[in-house]
Amino acid sequence: MPTSLSARLSAELAGLRESGLLIHPRVLDAANRARTRVDGREVVNLASNNYLGFADHPVLKAKAAAYLEEWGAGAGAVRTIAGTLRIHEDFEEQLAEFKHTGSALVLQSGFTTNQGVLGTLLKEGDLVVSDELNHASIIDGLRLTKATKKVYRHADPDDLERLLRENDTDGLKLVVTDGVFSMDGDVAPLDRLVEVARRYGAVTYVDDAHGSGVLGEAGRGTVHHFGMAEAEDVLQVGTLSKAWGVVGGYAAGHADLKQLMLNRARPYLFSTAQPPAVVGALSAALELVQSDPSFMERLWDNTRFFKSELARLGFDTMGSETPITPVIFGEAEAAFEASRRLFAEGIFAVGLGFPTVPRGKARIRNIVTAEHTRDDLEQALAAYARVGRALGTIS
Ligand SMILES: *Cc1c(COP(=O)(O)O)cnc(C)c1O
Repeated sequence: MPTSLSARLSAELAGLRESGLLIHPRVLDAANRARTRVDGREVVNLASNNYLGFADHPVLKAKAAAYLEEWGAGAGAVRTIAGTLRIHEDFEEQLAEFKHTGSALVLQSGFTTNQGVLGTLLKEGDLVVSDELNHASIIDGLRLTKATKKVYRHADPDDLERLLRENDTDGLKLVVTDGVFSMDGDVAPLDRLVEVARRYGAVTYVDDAHGSGVLGEAGRGTVHHFGMAEAEDVLQVGTLSKAWGVVGGYAAGHADLKQLMLNRARPYLFSTAQPPAVVGALSAALELVQSDPSFMERLWDNTRFFKSELARLGFDTMGSETPITPVIFGEAEAAFEASRRLFAEGIFAVGLGFPTVPRGKARIRNIVTAEHTRDDLEQALAAYARVGRALGTIS
């Protein structure tokens, strides 16, 4: 007898429940801000990706409203048929200028951008060498290609070199890395990776979802941070959903990249263009970060303060160098319990276990934003100290 739908669903859910990995997302009862209301409770929010506090910023909302009014609620078609509005083209130019790249193109999300670019660029006979901790959307994007796939040890240029040496090809060689790793908060050693890649004629592909709006002058990103923005052998992709506060993904780099993508990338050809309000908010976000340096300053002041205070309390933050601040609890159940206790103290910080992070490395991932006040962070630190002592994570 074939498996019934209800048998499949209940067996899968039971498996998750037994391993303590069943997720019940909390619900925000107000906008995503540094202080908000979650499941009916006022909390300090350490769980968002809203690095610059742009998700509910009045300047973004005003331009979103203006574009909504003038250009409509929806784009009305996929980009290649009748969905390319003047504002899409203008925003892509604005983004290429901001990134100092020959071209830039915008897709619906960071997730689809990895599918679109990797799926378009790579063919049979090509070689792709990918960091072992790269994001799930890269892994899924690579599944769409017939290229030979190899995985190098996390952030290890020597292991990368070994794989490039052992797997030579006349096809395109692509080295793929996150700019900032989303779970550990470390920065890819891009200078050394690109140096190795160049020696083997490989192109470097950086997914800068967590570096864009965070690293580099005015948040231009990890590639800019390493002074490589104008290099034609370095491609940047990323998201407009994290620091930029809205939704979308981008690919930026070589002048011909956009042209090829808009002819071949399946999410571009077969999925509707971004709605005007999104384009308006994003355009305002790029203007705002360049006209007002205080967003980046507050983000980094808060990051330094929160990390050094957690270390002083004795927590393991894995040496993270960015606003992503993991606090390690070990087993998933311990991280989930810590998250529940923090929540009871008015701190919203989410526990992450396998498969989001490796087994035994369950953690709470905190993200500090430009919007947090010193009071918010002190309240969070006091709660962390009490919860950490109660659970025996710190003494
Ligand atoms: C979040 C993230 C994505 C997905 O971006 P969305 O715009 O949310 O789809 C892709 N890559 C990395 C490294 C990410 O952290």
